[in-house]
Amino acid sequence: MITVEHLKVQFGQLVVLKDVNVQIDDGEVVVLIGPSGTGKSTFLRCLNFLVRPAEGKITIDGFSVDARTASKRECDHLRLKTSMVFQNYNLLKNKTAIQNIMEPMVTVQKKSKKEAEEVAVNLLKKVGLLQKKDAYPKEMSGGQQQRIGIARALAVNANVILFDEPTSSLDPELVGEVLGVIKQLVAEHNKTMLIVTHEMKFAREVADRILFLEDGCITATGTPQELFENCTNERVGRFLNTIN
Ligand code: ADP
Ligand code: MG
Repeated sequence: MITVEHLKVQFGQLVVLKDVNVQIDDGEVVVLIGPSGTGKSTFLRCLNFLVRPAEGKITIDGFSVDARTASKRECDHLRLKTSMVFQNYNLLKNKTAIQNIMEPMVTVQKKSKKEAEEVAVNLLKKVGLLQKKDAYPKEMSGGQQQRIGIARALAVNANVILFDEPTSSLDPELVGEVLGVIKQLVAEHNKTMLIVTHEMKFAREVADRILFLEDGCITATGTPQELFENCTNERVGRFLNTIN
């Protein structure tokens, strides 16, 4: 579903990603871990060209874009193949829960209001927030806002869902409800997901595979068991010790 080849990203003099190569299968759930500031968010943002890589080739669902030659049209087309759940939810403050979910269906997919509303109601049910349909973001808890963020990401039915630390802005007691919704999605859908998180227990439960990003490269990869339980990689071991 996703192939990333020789991805390089730089901001001015700072080379954040040096040479990232990744392949993710259709339906695979991959968790990306690594120290703060190593480029995990940057990597996700490259997949939809919110960040333009200096070099490299990204292929999603058979559509390839070369960073050096990509036209705006190609970037836009690639962008439709993923949807993102953000650390800070990124909901529109002046729109209600259901309007936030409907927004990308109406503006990007040009669905009719009626059709978008039908999909949104089903998604509100799925994330357990039908009763908050007409609430504005400020009238919801962080956990509820993020569940709306997840519903919005699902609404466009993209091939791949990208989660960028979906629970790291939440108070500890609200983390569980959001992870619960993601776990339920993993169980019910065969969707390809790439999740950045520091929640290792959750990662162990949902991930088919873990990627460890450090110093601009993926330096370790394996199943949760390989990486967490029989960890022979010293730097991964050290990282896990710092966050547990
Ligand atoms: P992570 O998500 O792993 O914590 P980020 O991808 O957010 O890391 O950031 C990686 C590095 O790139 C950091 O040093 C950060 O300051 C820098 N960075 C990220 N985005 C930009 C940007 N738009 N302009 C300049 N530097 C950036
Ligand atoms: Mg980040």
